[in-house]
Amino acid sequence: MTLRIYNSLTKRLEDFTPMFQKRVYYYTCGPSVYNFAHIGNFRTFFWEDILHRYLLLKGYQVIRAMPISDLEDKAVKNYLQELESVQENSRLLTFREFIDVRAKKFISDFNELDMLTPNYLIKFSDMVEDAKSTIEKLLRLGYAYTKIINNKNYVFFDVSKVQNYGHLWDINKNKKGFRIKDDYSKSGYYDFCLWKETMHSNNDIEFDFTYGRGRPGNGIYCSLIATKYLNHRIDIHAGGTDNRYPHHENEIAICYALTKKVFANYWFHVSHVTINKRKMSKRLGNIIYLDDLKEKGFTAEDLRFFYSLVHYRKNQNFTFELLKEAKELRNDILSSYYSVMQETYSGSENNMNGFVIQKFNELNKNNNNKYLLEFLRILDDDLNLPGLVFKIKEYLDSEEHRKNDQLIYAISQILNGLKIII
Ligand SMILES: [Zn+2]
Repeated sequence: MTLRIYNSLTKRLEDFTPMFQKRVYYYTCGPSVYNFAHIGNFRTFFWEDILHRYLLLKGYQVIRAMPISDLEDKAVKNYLQELESVQENSRLLTFREFIDVRAKKFISDFNELDMLTPNYLIKFSDMVEDAKSTIEKLLRLGYAYTKIINNKNYVFFDVSKVQNYGHLWDINKNKKGFRIKDDYSKSGYYDFCLWKETMHSNNDIEFDFTYGRGRPGNGIYCSLIATKYLNHRIDIHAGGTDNRYPHHENEIAICYALTKKVFANYWFHVSHVTINKRKMSKRLGNIIYLDDLKEKGFTAEDLRFFYSLVHYRKNQNFTFELLKEAKELRNDILSSYYSVMQETYSGSENNMNGFVIQKFNELNKNNNNKYLLEFLRILDDDLNLPGLVFKIKEYLDSEEHRKNDQLIYAISQILNGLKIII
């Protein structure tokens, strides 16, 4: 059975075939640690985790890299703003301290949400030397140019040199009314910054370079991390749908310039979380964090289950009422599952766990578990997790199916593999 997955690059469902048989090179964009990560950010990480876990369940070896976006423009801007608000005479926070608090909190929430840790977790700030040598190379190859604006040096990427720039995001369809939010006077409208000279006098955010002391532009890091730690060409690149432009288009352009190859074969994009149907934003004051849910008595498992109820390509609306309903549904499925287990394996109470493991080992040898095959078929359909949850509930509620060894085994394998409900 083959996983069929929606590829945002070709805009259609495709059979998933990795380049190297059973090995998958998987890159997922990481957290922007200029701020604390909220439940909207974690929805993307959840679905990336489900894809990761499902590939493992299907027997693939997954090699995954993810960055910690610590040196991007927003992080520097927020840090400098925070410094301005600091009282006179109090000790100034270093950039590293400012970032580390947010990065550590991200990792702690990520772990609490039971997300698999990528093989490579790489900070942008550890890639500055790689960025410099790549910028030199792009200049040498003619894909980049230098420019002085208001007495500062810049290096820009020239997108006119790359065929198919804008295919991922459908630039021709989406550009109407779209403004690029930067104030550089570049030679080409879509050109993007690879290096900028800055005047902060801060060794954490400013580095020496032939083209002026400063820092790399945001667009360069992910291409470098993916190609350095995974492969010049990767199987799946994932991220939030907002990242399609400019971030992912720019990654594709840089990698094409460096390798002349397709960078990623499949692009997996996760849609938004809205709050009462409105976008989550600082301006609207409606940002919700995992800690806010915990204060109201919900758990990380409740949030994982909540995410599993709406398909990744649709926006998911959040309200506390919807989260409460999800929690009740989770408890309902869990108690049916445990009570069916108890009933089916009654008489073995003294050593129920040992008995179930032995029973499961026997069932494991059976490749024709019709329930397991059905669950896998549902998930193979573009990760139809909501469909799986309701199918499991349907079987557990059915007198005809519920006390079937094979069903209990199949549910246990799937739920433990994906870390939902359980
Ligand atoms: Zn990225």
